[in-house]
Amino acid sequence: MFEDIPVEVGLIHEGERIRKEDMHVELGGPKVPGKFELVLVRDPGAITDGSVRVVGPDLDMLEPGKSYQFGILIEVSGEKLEEDLEGVLERRIHEYCNYIQGVMHLNQRYDIWVRIGKKSFSKGLKSFRQIGSVLIGLYRNELPIIEKIQVTFLTGGDEFDTYYPMARERYEARDSRARGLSDEEVDTFYGCALCQSFAPSHICVITPQRYANCGAISWFDGRAAARMDPEGPIFPIAKGECIDPESGEYTGVNEHARKRSMGEVDRIWLYSAFGYPHTSCGCFEAIAFYIPEVEGFGIVHRRFSGPTVNGLAFSTLADSTAGGRQIEGFHGLSLEYMRSVKFLKADGGWSAVVWMPSEIKELLGSVIPADVSRAIATENDAGDIPTLQAFLKEMNHPVVGRWVSPEEPAPGRDSGQGRSPEHPVMTIGELPLSSGGVTIILKNAKIYAEKIIIRPAGAGKTGGGKDA
Ligand code: SF4
Repeated sequence: MFEDIPVEVGLIHEGERIRKEDMHVELGGPKVPGKFELVLVRDPGAITDGSVRVVGPDLDMLEPGKSYQFGILIEVSGEKLEEDLEGVLERRIHEYCNYIQGVMHLNQRYDIWVRIGKKSFSKGLKSFRQIGSVLIGLYRNELPIIEKIQVTFLTGGDEFDTYYPMARERYEARDSRARGLSDEEVDTFYGCALCQSFAPSHICVITPQRYANCGAISWFDGRAAARMDPEGPIFPIAKGECIDPESGEYTGVNEHARKRSMGEVDRIWLYSAFGYPHTSCGCFEAIAFYIPEVEGFGIVHRRFSGPTVNGLAFSTLADSTAGGRQIEGFHGLSLEYMRSVKFLKADGGWSAVVWMPSEIKELLGSVIPADVSRAIATENDAGDIPTLQAFLKEMNHPVVGRWVSPEEPAPGRDSGQGRSPEHPVMTIGELPLSSGGVTIILKNAKIYAEKIIIRPAGAGKTGGGKDA
């Protein structure tokens, strides 16, 4: 099917990672502000079927080791195609690019991050036209609903400046459509298993009020996708009985999670980062991370390049969050879900958020309740935990009421006291304990303690330790 491309194409390459030292070039990604991918449904007359255009320098003209602005525009037509399907067709770009040996595609929409591997480049993968012809072949083969298709890659020029703002408008129009419908009003949610190649036990559960973690698929998109391709990765979930409206637990969701994760995950609380949190693959737009010292959540989005208030960068927190596990206190989410009234509802919603980058605080300004908003610190207010504690106390943030005594300094790393007993002080994906020649592995261990003492290995019982 792909004789004109010098590298392999197939499912086997999905999930392949290309490290910085192995990349020929990087397209989009965190160093580049302008990047997008967009699918548009057009009239048949507007499409030159099968054509691939490159606007700006082609792959072999780009300087090795550098990062470039990047856009992928795919235009399609078909009698049964509707605008509703654009978001879902667009998400397939991620899947199909990753089928190509030596091409790594991460994220979605305005956050795409693509790397071309050195080995594949030296084998002859030197033009975007080759990648475009693979995309066209896969779209046609897997989605016969598409009758005509053309692909454009943009690495610069006026056209990039035209399509980039158009893409941003289009994303907003899709997202706003899903606002206003509640989870209680529908009988069916949608599940997406597209990211199981990266996280085999993960499915996204997409509800009207809980947007997909990647921020690319709304409930309407899920519905359109499941109708278009009933055997595809997006499927309906009859929501069943509501076990608890506060945490968002449904019998139908639990059933599907169990089946699709092969028993790894058997309960999901849709609106909580504790208990049985929704799993995260790795494509989330942002992370909510619990900060035990202040009994609240920090939020960090993918574009934030600095360390967060607990000293950890997005990438480090992402390692603790991704992989399809249920790690209490680490929760992958989309920016759109943060607009929902169900956002971390069981954990206190916005009243539990204590820190977030100023960029998203500004972006979400209209949805954060005004009285809490002023008390949520950003990187400009607090760069470490003691400063955050002082800020929250000064602003009388709602979490301060949960501390042992609001008059006293907030519980800190060195006391370990005063935390709510219902929240663990530490959650670990796998904790090996070795003793007497056997190793016991505790999976998804949750540690509840009044005090934790961390000592370097080999330190005596009384020296070299640090309370945490
Ligand atoms: S993040 Fe979720 S919704 Fe988005 S593609 Fe992956 S599994 Fe699907």
